[in-house]
Amino acid sequence: MKRKFCFLVLAFLSVTGYSIAQYAKLYPSNWWVGMKWNKVQVLVYGDYDGFNKETVRINYPGVKLLKTTALENGKYMALDIEVASTSQPGEVVIEFLQNGRGHAVKWPLEKRRTGNGKTYAQGVNSSDLVYLLMPDRFSNGDESNDHVAGMRDQSLNRKEIYDRHGGDLQGVINHLDYLQKLGITTLWMTPVLENDQPNRTEHGYAFTDHYVIERRIGGAEKYLALSDALHKRGMKLIQDAVYNHVGSKHITFLDQPMKDWYHQWPKYTGTSYKDQPLFDPYASKSDAKKTVDGWFTTEMPDLNQSNPYVANYLIQHAIWSVEKFGVDGWRIDTYIYNDLPFMNRCNKALTDEYPKMTMFGETWVHGTAAQAYFVENKMDVPFKSNLQGATDFQALMYGIQPALKQDFGWTEGVNKLYTTLSNDFLYKDANRNCIFLDNHDLTRILSDVGGDIEKVKTGIAWLLTTRGIPQLYYGTEVLMKGEKNPADGNVRLDFPGGWKGDPKNAFTGEGMTAEEKDMQQYVTTLANYRKNSSAITKGSLMQYVPDDGLYVYFRYDAKQTIMCVMNTSDKNKEVDFSNFTERTSGYKAGKNIVTGVAVANKFTIPANRMWILDLSK
Ligand code: CA
Repeated sequence: MKRKFCFLVLAFLSVTGYSIAQYAKLYPSNWWVGMKWNKVQVLVYGDYDGFNKETVRINYPGVKLLKTTALENGKYMALDIEVASTSQPGEVVIEFLQNGRGHAVKWPLEKRRTGNGKTYAQGVNSSDLVYLLMPDRFSNGDESNDHVAGMRDQSLNRKEIYDRHGGDLQGVINHLDYLQKLGITTLWMTPVLENDQPNRTEHGYAFTDHYVIERRIGGAEKYLALSDALHKRGMKLIQDAVYNHVGSKHITFLDQPMKDWYHQWPKYTGTSYKDQPLFDPYASKSDAKKTVDGWFTTEMPDLNQSNPYVANYLIQHAIWSVEKFGVDGWRIDTYIYNDLPFMNRCNKALTDEYPKMTMFGETWVHGTAAQAYFVENKMDVPFKSNLQGATDFQALMYGIQPALKQDFGWTEGVNKLYTTLSNDFLYKDANRNCIFLDNHDLTRILSDVGGDIEKVKTGIAWLLTTRGIPQLYYGTEVLMKGEKNPADGNVRLDFPGGWKGDPKNAFTGEGMTAEEKDMQQYVTTLANYRKNSSAITKGSLMQYVPDDGLYVYFRYDAKQTIMCVMNTSDKNKEVDFSNFTERTSGYKAGKNIVTGVAVANKFTIPANRMWILDLSK
């Protein structure tokens, strides 16, 4: 009803003799003047016959229609439009003329954001501390958006792990003080794009419209408000990008522009989730094809990125997102299942436009060599990736997890962590990897270490002192628990205090246990110390061979030396500066940066503890 009404009203408005009506959807929905990417391929979608035979006209100073291409499905057309550097912001009118009928569609040409590289697209680096949260599960700041009429998933039940819970961007905005006090500098949220799927919409990884921000979390207006609020505080925003697939209710899947817009198989074929065929010298081509062209799930069809129209569609959306919302960093989902040459082009387009922009890709693979293959590396391999960093599953699965969970051995326990970091020689810059103890796909750290709070503390101490960009998963700081099996929903529970009437409130401390408050304080102390430590955020790393479960490493620069002592054994351990003279020479004592307690150059660290010591002369 509403739609019809709009159409009737708009039909009376006349520009250059034609009605301005939403006959067509344009992707991207707008562009900017003064972009390096100034040849834009606009995908036009309209729901009437004969669209591909239209004559298209643009009459706007500095804007030139270079080419029109009718795609196989007559409802889509690609318009190659050049925007001259001399053009001015305004409303470009694209006219479609056919058989005496005329339609005109507005394509706004906007003024760019100010402060490129200073206030947005700044890049995220090892000086930052990233907080990963799921908007549906952090805080409900606006109950009016809990349901959006007409959307397929109308669920709303906090007791059901796969229903929607009502959390939103206003909820995040409301608690930026909390995050900043905790020591967080950067926010990464699971995807914020519309997921108009029938169910399982809580995670956001099944886009149904690239140009609509999920209305149930507040839409584009709130996303812009959040971005502004972060930047005002000197904080940064990472966007979670998905190039590999879309949701099965995406418009370009329901009504496909071309036969090869998606990878088609004679019968449903999922990806094998195997990365090995992509670099294995003995791999079969069919295995490699399955990895990359197989679908992520039956509800997440696989985009064919070797189709140039698909590639342009995705690349332009990435640039559009950064410019539109002022994004600072980019996290790329399911990196290994993408067409890798396409990803190189895509990454380059972003850094060409935004030289300081940084990105890391999800590389859930096994072994540093495999992970390094997908990022900038020092290996002599046929394919060279230009991705800056990985989500470092190696430092997790073959690093801190065994360090915390296994008994010490020649290759076990903390020796695994030591060994994995020693393989950093394969990366161009391991410091660009994003490191973590848990995330939305993994058992939460507290559950993973059997509820041992001291082990969580050791994990956090390591996370905030080793190399890389540390990422904290929401709720880890207040001892949230959750096992990934049998249901990943259990690691995506609501943050306490995010909803009206929550008996426990992590923002105010109400109803919190002493242990939970203690962990919150521990993270706050460490994270805020880290912020101001040049040695930890920018300095060098030196690690020593672990000895019977005792692992000692240093972060250091010209200004300070930080000694990190991880005792993973169940015995107290003697530590003597004289065993680490390369780094301790000239230093007489250290101060525990969490407790403030001083230690001499010989001290005992209790079993199952990690201390971070600021050394003094
Ligand atoms: Ca809400």
